[in-house]
Amino acid sequence: MKTEESYMRQVLDLAAGAMQQDEFPIASIVVLDDEIIAQATTSEQREKRFLGHAELVALEEADKQRLSFAERGRVRIFANLEPCLFEAYVARHEPGPMRDWAETLTRLR
Ligand SMILES: [Zn+2]
Repeated sequence: MKTEESYMRQVLDLAAGAMQQDEFPIASIVVLDDEIIAQATTSEQREKRFLGHAELVALEEADKQRLSFAERGRVRIFANLEPCLFEAYVARHEPGPMRDWAETLTRLR
């Protein structure tokens, strides 16, 4: 089973890759059980979009996979930046992410 640290390392690698492409170094991955089901970097510079936040894009990608309610409860999201109000609002529709987000952020500090 992968650890939270390994997911965060992946997030940081994604963020570093974004920075090398002149993008803001912000990334996010969405995990269901032990599988990464979505990942994204911020695309604000690349696509000239104000709302291309990594967490929003990753959550939207995960949402397209039509998870069951039970699966949504097991989803976890990892990001290298605390959620802005947009993500906080979107993620509150998933029972799992906000709880784990808060717990993970607390543990990793
Ligand atoms: Zn945001």
